[in-house]
Amino acid sequence: MRKLLIAANWKMYKTPAESTAFLTNFLPFIKSNESAEVVVCPPMTSLPALVDAARGKNVSIGAQTMHWLNEGAYTGETSPTMLTAIGATHVLIGHSERRQYFNETDTTVNLKLKSALAHGLVPIVCVGEHLNERESNLTADVLNLQVAVALEGIDPAALGPLVIAYEPVWAIGTGRTATPETAEEAHKIIRAQIASVAGSEVAAGTRILYGGSVKPDNAGSLCCLGDIDGALVGGASLDPASFAQIIANATPKR
Ligand code: PEP
Repeated sequence: MRKLLIAANWKMYKTPAESTAFLTNFLPFIKSNESAEVVVCPPMTSLPALVDAARGKNVSIGAQTMHWLNEGAYTGETSPTMLTAIGATHVLIGHSERRQYFNETDTTVNLKLKSALAHGLVPIVCVGEHLNERESNLTADVLNLQVAVALEGIDPAALGPLVIAYEPVWAIGTGRTATPETAEEAHKIIRAQIASVAGSEVAAGTRILYGGSVKPDNAGSLCCLGDIDGALVGGASLDPASFAQIIANATPKR
């Protein structure tokens, strides 16, 4: 049974003080939550404060990106060893905003995924098609390629921690969501591709999250049915009550 995972992507929002204030308000809401794993991915500058504040609580803290190397002359970058040294446990890889604005490619996603797995970080690899690709019936081709290249050269035995987030680019921050049927269909494509690249056992165990304008009112229908094992939430995760409501609305479904 795949445990539900609901992750927050705060993007470039919140100072360290604002981040810890969020957690103070948020933790009481999820005190009794046991059915979903909850992860918050704040900006890098908030990671140490949030790791400290979340210690011993039922929320994990992850980064929004990382370099694949341990160290080097890469101005502005953060390495996997730096993340594990401060106690971060998860990392987003290949978010569409990273692909769009910072030149991330399927190849760098592959390098980052290998590195995250080697360092014991839980990787949340983001994939998803653009609107023009969906309208040209290319969704399956795009997802299959993104998944195949991401997993290239990785021993299936190492893929236990892998999490994929299906985030149709046209649904991110737009208020436009995939229907549960559209999301479920994409998740099935992704799971089938994982099976063909890494075997059916890995595919059956991999959590695939939906992301794209998830809000409290659509979380119940979008997040946690069939092949959908949780959510990656951007805008609606910035407010503690709203993020907690998403978790509450999503979890009774399974
Ligand atoms: C995201 O950034 O991963 C995301 C899904 O954003 P939003 O929920 O705001 O669409």
